[in-house]
Amino acid sequence: TISMAVIDRTGHIAVGTSTNGATFKIPGRVGDGPIAGSSAYAIDEVGACCATGDGDIMMRFLPCYQVVESMRLGMEPKLAAKDAISRITKKFPNFVGAVVALSKTGEHAGACHGWTFRYSVRSPAMEDVEVFTVLP
Ligand code: ASP
Repeated sequence: TISMAVIDRTGHIAVGTSTNGATFKIPGRVGDGPIAGSSAYAIDEVGACCATGDGDIMMRFLPCYQVVESMRLGMEPKLAAKDAISRITKKFPNFVGAVVALSKTGEHAGACHGWTFRYSVRSPAMEDVEVFTVLP
């Protein structure tokens, strides 16, 4: 899965996501990709979130909606991301997945469970893409 969050120069925030074509490929499956708030979510006034992992579990928790709403209530991106993952792992200890939270000011953080997760960031202030590693 590739999930992406973008803030444009006017401050509008957009997200997009693909969905896995192999591991979870069951004929007729509707993955978490098309479900708003599950693998991606954005609100201009707050920020955005992208996710990857076991969509059949994530879609029951809407972790990206959760992250954005937590940031709306004042949580830092890192805490919001960790909180969303822990809500899932309390019920599904074997869950494998990750979220990346992005505030409207460009602050970002990831949280993951079951694997080491990497995500990439590029902003106009940066020379090149930077890869961030998130430990479980
Ligand atoms: N979330 C995707 C899915 O369940 C899988 C992935 O993120 O790799 O289809």
